[in-house]
Order: sequence, then structure tokens, then C-alpha cells
Amino acid sequence: MAKVGGLADVVGALPKYQNEAGLQAAVVLPYYNRKFVQDNEFDVVFEASNKLGTRRYEFQILKERTNILGFELYLIYIPGLLDRTEVYSYPDEREQFIAFQLAFLDWITWSQQKPDIIHCHDHHVGLIPFLLQHSALYTRLSKTATVFTIHNGQYHGAFGYDKFIYLPEVDMAYAGLLDWGGGINPLACAVKCADRYTTVSPSYLQELSYNSNGLEHLFATERSRGLGIINGIDTEVWNPFTDPMIAAPIDALSPQKGKQANKQALCKHFKLSTDKPLISFIGRLVLEKGADLLPEAFTRSLKEHTGAVNILVLGAGDKETEAALTQLNELFPEHYKTFIGYNEELAHLIYAGSDFLLMPSRVEPCGLNQLYALRYGTVPIVRRTGGLIDTVIDFGDEDGYGICFNQSNVDDIVYSIDRAITLYKNTAHLDLLRKRMMALNFSWTQSAKQYNQLYESLISLI
Ligand code: ADP
Repeated sequence: MAKVGGLADVVGALPKYQNEAGLQAAVVLPYYNRKFVQDNEFDVVFEASNKLGTRRYEFQILKERTNILGFELYLIYIPGLLDRTEVYSYPDEREQFIAFQLAFLDWITWSQQKPDIIHCHDHHVGLIPFLLQHSALYTRLSKTATVFTIHNGQYHGAFGYDKFIYLPEVDMAYAGLLDWGGGINPLACAVKCADRYTTVSPSYLQELSYNSNGLEHLFATERSRGLGIINGIDTEVWNPFTDPMIAAPIDALSPQKGKQANKQALCKHFKLSTDKPLISFIGRLVLEKGADLLPEAFTRSLKEHTGAVNILVLGAGDKETEAALTQLNELFPEHYKTFIGYNEELAHLIYAGSDFLLMPSRVEPCGLNQLYALRYGTVPIVRRTGGLIDTVIDFGDEDGYGICFNQSNVDDIVYSIDRAITLYKNTAHLDLLRKRMMALNFSWTQSAKQYNQLYESLISLI
């Protein structure tokens, strides 16, 4: 329905697994005027109006008719604010998110619903736990437990007090909970006010205490109220044996044939030869992902191993990085290709057809790419950070299957690519690692169980 990164993977999959486990999970999202909305039918189940400062806005709650995604999906439609195509990048983003939160709370309050848990994801909805507790408008829901999940602690959604007028009346004795560093900080506010907060991996929970864009002190103080639950993957969508987006099924017990067929299709598409190790990168081209390091690292590796390795990039983001990566197409036409853009289908084929997937991330709260790579028999090359620590073991260690390095810098990337090239030459070892990684289980079943236990522990306190 709308996907920018891992947050969408989680919100699209977790409720499905929760429902299978006997819960009744529904998802509420802003309305995006995209293919999913055009292709599916919705009923208006609620409509009202609210105020954002002095501006009155109308909103509708739309419910998707058939539960096509495996859960009830509600969209909040607000003409002039939440009726657009893009997920981000509008100058009135703060107004969009605040209006969304207020409309949600109004709807739940006025329609007399009484959820056991409201589970909020990231700063966009970080004010909800506070408003439930400290705005008289929502006292009916003040006993509803809240969970707040941090998918990325670098983004706080902070704004100045000039926008305080957008909030409904709140108990000023508690207004300090909104604050961090002299502004309203929805992420900090949610960490303070939600009954529990979670991060998308245990290592990332630790990391936030020393790397969270200015909230380190808060996370160190609130550490005991946090819980790290690693993301799962949707094993129906990401099934290498049935995936319609890839060229041939990959059998987890004997992956060699399927891997080769997908590599052939992928290499044909990009006019690359199939007899060399293929190392790929998929993701947002931003500092967090270490994307700025790629042009120099790839140039060095491609020069040092002339003709012995092929490299492929799928991503979009910083214009400078996009341009530097695109330039490599001309410098190494036979061994390097960049595809700038977002392409879900191509991503599936790259996971299936590559030999290695590189993730030199500076910050990686969980990371899903390495989980997809593992499931598709592609060796992840990862920097040891956040969720990558929790999910990838170096093949030099006991029961290992990946390539790990310590620093987000060009030297470590080049060295790891060297290791990949050497590993690739040992076909039997590579085949063993593929079988080992494809036998791993990162499905949502286990993680969903942990969320369910958390919910139960909170409900029992009410
Ligand atoms: P983040 O949420 O920080 O971007 P994650 O690893 O949690 O990173 O999730 C990234 C998700 O987005 C994965 O499903 C990945 O396949 C997908 N993705 C990222 N960039 C692209 C792209 N350019 N084309 C297709 N899929 C992409």
C-alpha cells in the first residue's frame, strides 16, 4: 500500500501473524493516493472534523472491504493533508502527522471503541501515548496500554513550540513530557510516555544509549523500559521456492541450481557475465547505510581485482551518491551496473540472483535485507552494528554463514570484498554456507509471539 523501507515490511507482516496467533490486530495508516488504494474497495466507516490550530479539517476513516492483506486495514483520509501520493517530502509533514494522530484518537474515542493495546510505530505517531494520558479529550482511553516501536532512532520528528497550537488542550503540568532540547520531540515523548517501548533488535536497544542523534541520555535513563525484539520476515512474500518475482525456484536443500538460474536471469538483464562473483547492494543511498562509501570502495575493488568480480547497485537517495555510483557504469561497463530507483520486483531478483549482498551500514536498527539475502541463499557482507550483529555470524566463526566487518569505512569494505572473492572460488564451501543460511528461521512467528507476550503483560496490569 505504501512502502519506503523496513517499517512497511513490519506493519504489513506482524499483524497477519498476530491474527494467526488468535489476536485481533488491525492497522491504521494515512491515506496515500497510490495503486493499492485505486485497486481496492473501501467503505467510509466514520467521518468527522477536527481543528489543527485555527484550521478546521474534515476527515474520513476508510476500511478496506476484504481484509486482503490478512488484517483489517483502516486509512485516514484528510482532504488537503492526507490525500497525496508520496509518503514523505512534503513541507507540511508535521501538520500531516499531527492531524493523523488527532483524527485517529477522535475516531477511536467517539466511535466508542476500546482497544486493549495501541501499538504506535516511530515518531509519526509518537504523541499518541502522551495525548491519551494527558488530554482530557481522551480520558475514556486513558487505561488503554500503549506500546511504541522504534524502527529508527535517528529520526525524531521534532518541531518547535510555534506548532504547539496544533495540539488539543493538554494538562500543562505534564507538558514537559513533550520536550527534548527545547522543542517538541515526538520520539522522546513516546519513549517517556508509552507503557513500554521496543526496538527492532536487542543490539539496537543497547546502541541507542550511545547513538541516537541527541537522545542518548534519555535512552540510558529509560533503558529498563525498553525491549529489543528482532523483526521477522514475511515468509509467504519472501519464499524463494514460490516467489513469482524471481526467475526460478531455489530449493533450500540443494540451492545451487536455482541460484544459478536466477543469477543467469539477473546477469542477462544487466548484461553482466555469470562466471564471476556477483556482489550487490540494495537500499536507500544515505549515510546511515554507508552508501557514500560505496563509490570509492567499488572503484578500489574493481581495480584491484580487474575482471574478477561484478557489482550491482539498486537504490535511490542522496543525489551526490547517486551520481557517483552512476558514473562507475562508464568506468567499469563490463563489471558494474547501477539502477537508480525503487523497484520491488528487481529487488527480489537481486536477492535471488546475487552471490553476496553488501550492507556497510553505520546504523541498522534491524535490517531486513540481510534476512531476505539469507533466505535466498545469498551471503550477507555486513558491518557489525544493530540488528546485523544479532542476525549474521561470520563464516570464520562456529556455525557462521556471513562475512562481517567492524568499521563503516572503505578499507573494511574492500577487505570484505576480497574475502568474498576468495570464498566464491571454494564452490563446496559456498554451497555449504548457502544450505546453512537457508535453514535458518527468521519468520515472524517467533517475534510475533514476543510482541503478544508483551501485550499480555501490559493488559494484565490494567
Ligand atoms: P530501512 O528501513 O532502513 O530502509 P530495512 O533493511 O529495514 O532498511 O528495509 C529496507 C527494505 O526496503 C527492504 O525490503 C528492501 O528490499 C527495500 N528496498 C530498499 N531500497 C529499495 C529499492 N531501491 N528498490 C526496492 N526495494 C528496496
